[in-house]
Amino acid sequence: MARTPLMAGNWKMNMDHLEATHLVQKVAWTLDDAGFTYGDVDVAVFAPYTDLRSIQTLCESDELRIAYGAQDVSVHDEGAYTGEISTSMLSKLGCSYVIVGHSERRAYHGESNELIGQKAQKVLGAGMIPIVCCGEELEVRKEGRHVEYVVSQIDELFAGFQAADIAKLVIAYEPIWAIGTGEVATPEDAQEVCGAIRARIEETFGADAAAAVRIQYGGSVKAANVQEIMAQPDVDGALVGGASLKAEEFAKIVMFR
Ligand code: PEP
Repeated sequence: MARTPLMAGNWKMNMDHLEATHLVQKVAWTLDDAGFTYGDVDVAVFAPYTDLRSIQTLCESDELRIAYGAQDVSVHDEGAYTGEISTSMLSKLGCSYVIVGHSERRAYHGESNELIGQKAQKVLGAGMIPIVCCGEELEVRKEGRHVEYVVSQIDELFAGFQAADIAKLVIAYEPIWAIGTGEVATPEDAQEVCGAIRARIEETFGADAAAAVRIQYGGSVKAANVQEIMAQPDVDGALVGGASLKAEEFAKIVMFR
């Protein structure tokens, strides 16, 4: 099955509102000017919550053809959860995707695989696509336990999921030691773990789910290294942090072919 690559820019907690609204337009215009063929590759940006309403307006009125989403979501539907944002709030803002379980959420907010799996279910239930992050720390990699570690994250994240749901979602393999460090995993490193994730999905959920699920690599992806990473058979896209804050650089990553 041919999987449409997904190139996603995670803006994290960067830029002011004007810079963010300008960036989304600049990315779309740069892609338009370069004659990018929408549909061959999916493109999405993940802005801070406070920018989403304006990005929605821009995308609707200017017909910018890029998708957008949020960097996290609450597992609760509504109620006394100060500071949280629900899936229905995000879907009303036109979000197509939501990142769940980014390593920064795991590290600074103690998020567990169980909670992240519940968030992914909520996102699917609201008709959006979760990008579910996983990945090992440097220590685990040095001990050579990275494949078994990530595979066990996959088991915990998706315990109780249906194969049809797995087929819809996106998994982002992000080795923590390669995030924001300039230290990129080799294409072979990325393939080793992305291949192992797909094999585990096949064992647990069957061949159709494994053939459909999109698996991204993330960790210091830039225009200079995206092509060789994307050449790997089990890598279906990139989750990009720092390099997604520059329109030209991100557009080059999107047009990796
Ligand atoms: C990320 O935060 O998901 C990420 C991959 O960041 P960077 O591209 O900056 O390493």
